[in-house]
Amino acid sequence: MDLYEYQARDLFAAHGVPVLDAIVADTPEQAAAAASKLNSPVVVVKAQVKAGGRGKAGGVKLAKSPEEAAERAKDILALTIKDLPVRRVMVTQGASIAEEYYFSVLLDRANRTYLAMASREGGMEIEELAHQRPEALARIPVDAITGIDAAKAQEIVDAAGFAEEVKPQIIEVIQKLWTVFQEEDATLVEVNPLIKSGDGKIIALDGKVTLDENAGFRHSLHESLADQDAADPLEAKAKAKNLNYVKLDGNVGIIGNGAGLVMSTLDVVAYAGEKFGGSKPANFLDIGGGASAEVMANGLEIILSDPQVKSVFVNVFGGITACDAVANGIVQAFQLLESRGEAVTRPLVVRLDGNNAELGRQILTEAKLAGLEQVDTMDGAASRAAELAAKGA
Ligand code: GDP
Ligand code: MN
Repeated sequence: MDLYEYQARDLFAAHGVPVLDAIVADTPEQAAAAASKLNSPVVVVKAQVKAGGRGKAGGVKLAKSPEEAAERAKDILALTIKDLPVRRVMVTQGASIAEEYYFSVLLDRANRTYLAMASREGGMEIEELAHQRPEALARIPVDAITGIDAAKAQEIVDAAGFAEEVKPQIIEVIQKLWTVFQEEDATLVEVNPLIKSGDGKIIALDGKVTLDENAGFRHSLHESLADQDAADPLEAKAKAKNLNYVKLDGNVGIIGNGAGLVMSTLDVVAYAGEKFGGSKPANFLDIGGGASAEVMANGLEIILSDPQVKSVFVNVFGGITACDAVANGIVQAFQLLESRGEAVTRPLVVRLDGNNAELGRQILTEAKLAGLEQVDTMDGAASRAAELAAKGA
């Protein structure tokens, strides 16, 4: 999960990383109030979007009075930066900048380690710098156990070639940034720019943090950082029901057991759909191994609440949970949905294979569920589901 700059700033502050005072604002009036409260001769109004390059896109502006802050906020709240509408700004104290540096620490998957990067030349052109003069960006592997201790911090500032006078402060700040990274279970902490202010202080002026959602259970506060506006409403509903669901653009709802099977189902449906006016998968949904009737019902409910869905393909390969159990789950799911007032009204194509497939098919045949068809092969079922979706469009 990527955080907004203001959320990253809050985490930095909580771990003792030096940051500037800041207040978020959703309207120009709030921005003016924030500017008065900050009581600084210059404030900076910054777009809060999860994209880099805000400065270049006009999303970072200085203001010398509350009125001016309101004006800048008005301009910035009207912007769309890299397809993301700006809904909120952060108003911060203005800093006088003597130098701009770069620092980040991230999970380096390819090398199975963490990696710290630092440069004396931070600011808005860091990607360019990394590309054109890679030697100006120090890259130092960081061991997961020892992390960035004093010795590692020294190694990083030496490799980046910071001036001796700022090294002690930077050593302290990057150790604190490491505690943010480690204690918050982040996969990225990036500060660009890390500045030396006019009066010689090292301050994190911008912050980008990515949290590892797999560690979310260890952090009760992280859930509140999730972006409610940006989440797809169906995905949010599915998440609340603990379903592994991803919304896609097509018209064939997909339910399967096992992530690999569902992934290949998406491919097969997209391929079959070429013959039927471009029918495409409407979602990814893996109901996992032990699919109970309730999980099946919840899955069907989410999929059918997507108005784009014109047919549903249930693709199950029976393993430990055998096909007869899945078939019974489908029958009960139909009843459950009917009792919830959500009766299944769109065609359902079911393919059962694997453990106890015969018995499962028999259960579904005998249940005579309206709109349910069985096809015994994956390709055949995908093709039928794509055809039904095209007809229903
Ligand atoms: P980004 O473009 O999305 O990375 O946004 P940043 O927060 O990094 O801001 C972009 C640039 O705006 C920085 O590199 C600074 O040069 C400038 N900037 C941001 N805050 C201040 C400030 O408080 N004072 C001054 N003078 N410049 C700032
Ligand atoms: Mn930046």
